[in-house]
Formats: sequence, C-alpha cells, structure tokens
Amino acid sequence: MVDIQFKVEKGRVLVPVGLPCPFGCKYCYTRNGEVGPARVKPDEVLVHLRKFATQHEFTTIQFGYDSDPFAFPERGIAMLQCLIELGKHINFSTKACIEGTVLDALGEIRHKLGKHLTLSALVSLSCWESAPIVEPHTPTPAERMRTVNNLKRIGIPAFIAVRPLLPHIAEAEYEHLIDGALRAGCDGFILGPLYADEKGRFVKFIPAEILRNVPGRKVVVPWSAHAPVWTRYEDETRMQRIMVLAEAKGGHVFWSSADAVQSVVDAITP
Ligand code: SF4
Repeated sequence: MVDIQFKVEKGRVLVPVGLPCPFGCKYCYTRNGEVGPARVKPDEVLVHLRKFATQHEFTTIQFGYDSDPFAFPERGIAMLQCLIELGKHINFSTKACIEGTVLDALGEIRHKLGKHLTLSALVSLSCWESAPIVEPHTPTPAERMRTVNNLKRIGIPAFIAVRPLLPHIAEAEYEHLIDGALRAGCDGFILGPLYADEKGRFVKFIPAEILRNVPGRKVVVPWSAHAPVWTRYEDETRMQRIMVLAEAKGGHVFWSSADAVQSVVDAITP
C-alpha cells in the first residue's frame, strides 16, 4: 500500500508528481522520501486525491511539490488533464523550459478549466550565475524565463519562486534574477526559506561558516501532509532587502505561494 497523504492548508492541497526529479538541485529535499513516496503511479495519486476531495473542503490544487511535473512533460500534462476534473483552481511548480507542443497542451488545459477557475504557475529560481553549480541538470535561468514569457503569452499567470533563498549567493545574482523575471513579464516573486533535515543533507553545499550565521529554527513543515521536522533557515533582514529591491523595480512580493495564487483568484472574482 503506497503512503500518499494529503492535507488542506490555507485552502489548498499539494499534489505529488510521483516520480523522482532528474534536475538534481543541490538543495532538493525530495530525495529521501520525507515529503512523500518517490514513485507512485499517476492513477494511484488521482484515486487517492479524488477520495480525499469527497471528504475535505479546499479550493486550490498545487501540483508538483515532490518533483517537477514538466521534467516528464507527457506525465505532467496527462495528470493536469485529470486534475481539471476536480473543478479547483490549479497551480503548478516547475523549472522546466516549456514551449512547443507542451505549451499548446497547457493552453488547451487552460481553456478546458473554464473562466471561473484559474491556472497559474510558479517558476523556481534560487540564483542566476551560480545555477550551473547549484542546479546543474536543470534548465538554465534564461530557459526558465522563456517559460515565464511563453506561459504569459497563453494567459497563464507566472510567479517566480525565489526559494530557497540561498545565504551564500551574492545579492547581485538576485538582482539579475529580478531583472530577468520582470523582463519576462512575471506576476510577482515568492521569497522562501531554506530547509535542512537532521543530517543537513540539503545544505551540504553551503559553506558551514556562512550557514552558521543564518537564523534557523526547528519546525514541523506546515505545508507537508507528511509533517517532517526540519530546520528552517531564514535571514529576515536579507529577505526584506530583496523584497525592497524587487518592489523598487516594480515587482510584487508574496511571502507564500498560497498568497500569490490567491491574488490570481481575486483577479477573476467579481
Ligand atoms: S526541480 Fe525541484 S524537485 Fe527537481 S531537483 Fe530541483 S528542487 Fe528537487
């Protein structure tokens, strides 16, 4: 029996892709199975979710917290086609370069969802020039900006998830990231913390002397149905500086993806 768990938090339910992600970001927290099983068939995810939906109230599905739905685009598209049947707002997270037939398929999904529901995207970046080291097998930041631009062109709002915000990355990189994202037409930025498990597996690549100086506290990860207890590293002063920088350039800043998705819902609510 596969251990798939769902949880309603802030009106949303996180839905897994169910396949290990090949992108290999150094800070990735999905590899040890603490936020869900590594391999689950799409049908199993969907059967469990449909059952959960009959017993719980929620408005939004956030798809792709355990992997990247568009690392294997056929799977991502097929799962989205099923998810629209639940009649919820949908948001997906990705670092993929989305174009061509995959973009066309997303356009169809957007259309089928109807005007009373929203489809939006979170495109994640944690650095710019350091991406070949930190996110070595992941589409480049420029390719991800192409994704933002393409999604916007077909009417899908796209936010930039700057998370985790990495303590050893120079602020100049974040300025490049903000400039690139605004040029691509993004709808805003979500700044987020860095998580580490007990063994420090997701933060090994960060120089210890830098991490030591970042405020960290143990938390039960609030968005995960599997509730791992991890250390949440968050330098609020630095986050505020980056927020001020983004806003000075005309960007909107959100502190949670739930708030970003809600802004899209509010925009269609009379
Ligand atoms: S894209 Fe996301 S799921 Fe994939 S390796 Fe990077 S952080 Fe992990």
